[in-house]
Amino acid sequence: MLIRVLAEPRPGDARVALVPRSVATLVGAGHRVLFPSGAGAAAGLPDRSYSDAGAEVFTGPPPAADLVVAVGPVNLEEILPTGSVIAFLDPLGRPEEMARLAEAGVTALAMELIPRTTQAQAMDALSSQATAAGYQAVLLAAARLPRFLPMMMTAAGTVPPAKVLVLGAGVAGLQAIATARRLGAMVSGYDIRPAAAEQVQSLGATFVGGPLEAAAETSGGYAGEVAEDTRARQLAALAPHVEAADIVITTAQVPGKPAPRLVTREMVEAMRPGSVVIDLAASTGGNCEVTVPDEEVDVEGVLVLGPRDLASGTAGHASEMYSRNVTALIRHLAPEGDLVIDPSEPITAAACVTHGGDILVPAVRAARGGGA
Ligand code: NAD
Repeated sequence: MLIRVLAEPRPGDARVALVPRSVATLVGAGHRVLFPSGAGAAAGLPDRSYSDAGAEVFTGPPPAADLVVAVGPVNLEEILPTGSVIAFLDPLGRPEEMARLAEAGVTALAMELIPRTTQAQAMDALSSQATAAGYQAVLLAAARLPRFLPMMMTAAGTVPPAKVLVLGAGVAGLQAIATARRLGAMVSGYDIRPAAAEQVQSLGATFVGGPLEAAAETSGGYAGEVAEDTRARQLAALAPHVEAADIVITTAQVPGKPAPRLVTREMVEAMRPGSVVIDLAASTGGNCEVTVPDEEVDVEGVLVLGPRDLASGTAGHASEMYSRNVTALIRHLAPEGDLVIDPSEPITAAACVTHGGDILVPAVRAARGGGA
């Protein structure tokens, strides 16, 4: 199969979909890999490392391919000419673009729809990129906080450790907790799912109790939407913890829904000036009331950041992990050469958004109002 790597069109994203080690794996499996010159540079991966791994480095207009691999999201024009694409496609947020891919006859596989099953664990790019984002969120907050994170006992006096509060203890949140602990902060975490309490505590952080509801956890291990009265109790319980924190990192998401509001403007105003809020849910509406995606907001001396490309901050490792996820999917779908699209196979059934001119995922069809 002729696989082409996309030079990511999104400014600010330094990641690349395949790293040289994966190129070598795919070439070893009998595929050809076409690589656009310079596409790995921002992730610390020069052209030479790709050609050494067996890629064919090209400049100028993209050659035709059987499969384009990208980080994404991408539009139809950016990937042509190709028969298929693998990327974060944001299919539920961009159903009209999925319709255009279907009309053009492109087979599209969305990395965010890979099921969270044991069989698909090696392809779980949501987790790998959330890991990078959670780590990076702590580094960003630490760099912007005008205080130390660890306790320090020096001749110039004793400094108490900073207080870090992490809201949402999924993959990104747990990584943020672990990273903040390593930097010596006093860390607490919160999640609506009761199962998260033990995970937070196992990382040496304090679990901030709240009105937990068993019903908040859906069968897939995700959180569901929270009823209005529970939300009010949740906010009241969280307020004192937010106000006491030097750093608040919010990561709460509900798949397919706007992010839950957990931090109000009043809570931010009550924080100590110099404190920092990093909202990792900015792309789905934000957990914090004052978040503006990709901008810095100053609320009476408290800095609120809503970066959407945090995984790109560690582009080398984020790309390496994403590349392994994509390669595992290619090897799963193309065991002997070409992609085999079998809609009855569980991973294909979940992640294949368009094939044969149709939109295959019911939720994407529903997002278009039943069209396609
Ligand atoms: P996510 O990004 O969907 O959400 C992040 C966190 O926000 C979750 O822990 C969620 O419970 C929490 N949240 C949602 N609404 C909230 C609210 N109102 N208040 C407080 N917290 C709220 O989650 P994720 O990181 O993708 O992980 C979701 C689940 O999937 C977790 O249980 C995780 O352990 C599980 N998971 C399983 C696998 C696997 O089995 N292969 C892989 C990755 C994740």
